[in-house]
Amino acid sequence: MPTYKAKGLIIKSYRLGEADKIVKIFTPDMGLISAVAKGAFNMKSRFSGRLELYNVIDCEFSQGRTLDIVSQAEILEIFNGISGDFLKFNYTQSLSEMILKTQSEKAASYNLFKLTYLVIKKMNNIDDSNEVFLQMLLIFFMINFSKIMGYAPMLKCCTVCGCEMLKNPEIFSVKYGGTVCRSCSSGKSGIIFFNDEEMHLLTGLLSCRLEELTDFKVSYRTSSRILDLMAEYVSFHSEINLSSLAYLKKIHKNIV
Ligand SMILES: [Zn+2]
Repeated sequence: MPTYKAKGLIIKSYRLGEADKIVKIFTPDMGLISAVAKGAFNMKSRFSGRLELYNVIDCEFSQGRTLDIVSQAEILEIFNGISGDFLKFNYTQSLSEMILKTQSEKAASYNLFKLTYLVIKKMNNIDDSNEVFLQMLLIFFMINFSKIMGYAPMLKCCTVCGCEMLKNPEIFSVKYGGTVCRSCSSGKSGIIFFNDEEMHLLTGLLSCRLEELTDFKVSYRTSSRILDLMAEYVSFHSEINLSSLAYLKKIHKNIV
């Protein structure tokens, strides 16, 4: 049976049958790998503790007829601050969902892997689950995800007529992929109006680095609105449905 090796981050795992475990591993060199770890749920399994969600692992796989098989796994790094924290877990799930729904198997995606790894590491390392900051991290991920996928929002000119936006842009269209000038926006459906704080956050996040995220001081209302917008934006342009964010919203409604 041919074998191969790969390093990556486990972004999904679930039980298969009595004791087997399916893992979906996002790797820089081979995209998404789905494999089965036979007997992983047995008490004395050699995989015990190694194939947990958000572990970074170095694996050897045997090529199977339908699914590849994990034959060896070594832990490189553990992000164990996520799964036990309700908010961190759910925001990280949204990020994983984007990868799972857009990335194909065996297609290298180094930049996207690096982005995913760094944002998940940050999610793991923050001390308290400040929800605004978790939302900012997810927005940061979505904006940079859209850049890598080639459809980053355009905010410097009108996406319909190309005119330069002289004042702060404030009218946005998901469908057109960015700001729209006042005259082009008239009569169009799906037009979104932003206030100054929302626009400032969106333009700021478009060019900021991960370590600069803490410089932004925004309200929960603003981060929630921009997160909703970016979720709609990524869903529309990648043609996916992000169900984990809808779940988070439902939970919030029940709490409030
Ligand atoms: Zn225009």
